[in-house]
Amino acid sequence: MTVIPNLNIVPFVSVDHMMKLVLRVGIDTFLRELADVVEEDFRRWESFDKTPRIASHSKEGVIELMPTSDGTLYGFKYVNGHPKNMKEGRQTVTAFGVLSDVGNGYPLLLTEMTILTALRTAATSAVAAKHLARKNSRSMAIIGNGAQSEFQARAFKAILGVDTVRLFDIDRSASEKCARNLAGQGFTIEICDSAQSAVEGADIITTVTADKQYATILTDNMVGPGIHINAVGGDCPGKTELHRDILLRSDIFVEYPPQTRIEGEIQQLPADYPVTELWQVITGQKQGRVNDRQITLFDSVGFATEDFSALRYVRSKLAATGLYTELDLLADPDEPRDLFGMLLRCEAALA
Ligand code: NAD
Repeated sequence: MTVIPNLNIVPFVSVDHMMKLVLRVGIDTFLRELADVVEEDFRRWESFDKTPRIASHSKEGVIELMPTSDGTLYGFKYVNGHPKNMKEGRQTVTAFGVLSDVGNGYPLLLTEMTILTALRTAATSAVAAKHLARKNSRSMAIIGNGAQSEFQARAFKAILGVDTVRLFDIDRSASEKCARNLAGQGFTIEICDSAQSAVEGADIITTVTADKQYATILTDNMVGPGIHINAVGGDCPGKTELHRDILLRSDIFVEYPPQTRIEGEIQQLPADYPVTELWQVITGQKQGRVNDRQITLFDSVGFATEDFSALRYVRSKLAATGLYTELDLLADPDEPRDLFGMLLRCEAALA
């Protein structure tokens, strides 16, 4: 990994720089490379410090901190989830993150993570599906056509070769926006009138709706044999998307059980209900899909290691692209104990 030289200057990746970085690298290449880094970090799962994210809930939403470390680098993401925001012209999910050097605690990167979260969530979904969906899955229903949806479609195309998307949203204008944004990119796109018709003939179902309640986006009768469900939107206590009966018919794969049992679809099930950790499938310790009739469910909530992977991937791109600004974030006088003297010298310079 190329390193930015000056320890006291923290590279800052703004929204504008993040967009330019993604486009410079290329959306598909970015998603593929990011998916590789996410997968690489799942492979070394045991080397990470892990804790369920620290959530501050309110009536309207949640604000969360997501920390982890591999002993060399430390990362955290600040992220919110406020389903009502969209109606007020704001994002449901916004985020920023920091990567630091464990050796001295100094930050190495501060970056926007709203766009990066959409990319890492889509890349992680595609990594899970690569291991769990039927081979040759080409068609995906996307239920919930908001901010995350196009990223999901692009990642599934770049990583699995999905080329047909069937869209449904309770707000048709969201599906029309999604279809417009995906036009001319090699997809066959159909806007559907119901979730039921969207899932017809789909190999994969992605649910990525936002509603702060126990919603039932999919009922049991809608899920046929062999389907892979990528359940992204249920990611908070009291916020789920799938009918409980679907869970009982599926083999369930999760990121980090202590967090998913609080936040995921499996909050509907007893605390000891058996689930498989995705990292164990990726490392070959546990089986993923065993036959073509099995229903596999990736109960995604988003875990700190995925943000860590995204942070270290972005950092690896900075020196070569220069797509960052230098942030004067750290008060670091030449004589470390003379912090107050630094303030006095500033006062003198201003006088
Ligand atoms: P968004 O508000 O931009 O879009 C959500 C869409 O869902 C809207 O278009 C809305 O009309 C639609 N919707 C709501 N209820 C519906 C229903 N019953 N049927 C069909 N459509 C419905 O939100 P977003 O940024 O796209 O995020 C979507 C969800 O994904 C959120 O709940 C968010 O918390 C979650 N999320 C999860 C992860 C993860 O890692 N698992 C990461 C990012 C976001």
